[in-house]
Amino acid sequence: MAGPSDTDVIAAVATAQGRAGIGIVRVSGKSLDRLASQLLGGKPPARTAMRATFRSASGEPIDDGIALFFPAPASYTGEDVLELQGHGGAVVLQMLLRRCLELGARVAEPGEFTRRAFMNDKLDLAQAEGIADLIDAATEAAARCALRSLRGEFSDLIRSLARQLIELRTLVEATLDFPEEEIDQLDRDDARMRLSRLREDVGRSVARGRQGSVLRSGLQVVLAGQPNVGKSSLLNRLAGEDLAIVTEIPGTTRDSVRQTIQIEGVPMNIIDTAGLRDTADAVETIGIARTWEAIEQADVTLLIVDAREGVTPADLAIVKRLPGKLEAVTVFNKIDLSGGAPCAEDDQQGRRVHLSAKTGEGIDALRQVLLELAGWQSETEDIFMARERHLVALEHVAGALERAAQTTLHTELFAEELRLAQRELDSITGEFTADDLLGEIFARFCVGK
Ligand code: GDP
Repeated sequence: MAGPSDTDVIAAVATAQGRAGIGIVRVSGKSLDRLASQLLGGKPPARTAMRATFRSASGEPIDDGIALFFPAPASYTGEDVLELQGHGGAVVLQMLLRRCLELGARVAEPGEFTRRAFMNDKLDLAQAEGIADLIDAATEAAARCALRSLRGEFSDLIRSLARQLIELRTLVEATLDFPEEEIDQLDRDDARMRLSRLREDVGRSVARGRQGSVLRSGLQVVLAGQPNVGKSSLLNRLAGEDLAIVTEIPGTTRDSVRQTIQIEGVPMNIIDTAGLRDTADAVETIGIARTWEAIEQADVTLLIVDAREGVTPADLAIVKRLPGKLEAVTVFNKIDLSGGAPCAEDDQQGRRVHLSAKTGEGIDALRQVLLELAGWQSETEDIFMARERHLVALEHVAGALERAAQTTLHTELFAEELRLAQRELDSITGEFTADDLLGEIFARFCVGK
């Protein structure tokens, strides 16, 4: 699929829908002189806030605001960019956007500003993805991690791996070019050593990226249990001091199905099964269908029971309806009433945690179980916000290098595996990336970014 035309002037409301103090319309294109002069009466000075009246075709004021002009190439997209800051009302911003369209712009597609930034070499693909991940970050740890990708730290790591690979390839391909010459034992040892160092570095990068991807997507937890067993109390306890950051999951605003809490910065997206029942109500039916969809994608079932009663037939009935592939954790709550001791067990009867949401005893054990199921070790400063696409590429690199290690004596095969490995690395930063993949990546951005 070909991308949208790169020569159009594009415009979009860059701020969120709704009421706000300020709203921004962003415009980008090869030249914005005419648009600026008709809308503002003149082009604002470069990178200087200018108080301006935004005017309609007949000269009527649409809004009073601030205009900022970033001439190419020193702008977000690498083209001329105009930022119009007006009052943050939905109607006034739509009027301003419509005026820009009248002046020749078209509405930007999601992520199109960033796509242009990528096309104009302002950032690479992994950095562009970092931008989307920063906007979507559900926890502070995820945001910090995405920012590191956006600032190019992940790309730098990938490039340093690519550099090591290129040095190794140079060494090996030199011997391909002169096949009659004996491969020097020294060169061979050198190549082996470099290869093993590179494999270690790639392995470490995969591990760091995997931690980042845990922060990005978190754990999808299905919450089940009868009324009054303490589900809400437990969620509040788990979220602890971070309750204020309870958010809706990115991309699904107004999603009543899930709420997100965080444990050590790892998002836990909680899907509540409380509303699952037979009903004739149309709206409720839609909600229930969405809950089932969310459950299909989940990782873990958290069944909460009253420790005094244990698992009831009603619990078993709901658990039976859940997909079998889900990891299951049974929580025996209210041990302060049952007199049980806090503990976590994991044996043939499955994972069980005994705790009290009221006193907090045993809560840490449950936190640890959930973090472990998410695949989380602990936050260190060198985690990267890797996406599935990056991890797959890095794993392919690791695979190619492993095969290379097994073929060190067959120089041609060795060189071929190294070539494959390099292509995978380059795909992460987008050096050679197919248009349809780009389309897919940028389509998930918000409009105006
Ligand atoms: P839900 O209906 O499953 O969400 O249950 P709630 O969280 O609303 O809790 C139901 C009742 O049980 C409330 O009165 C809670 O205060 C109480 N409760 C929850 N957890 C505990 C616990 O660990 N110990 C005791 N003693 N009471 C609890």
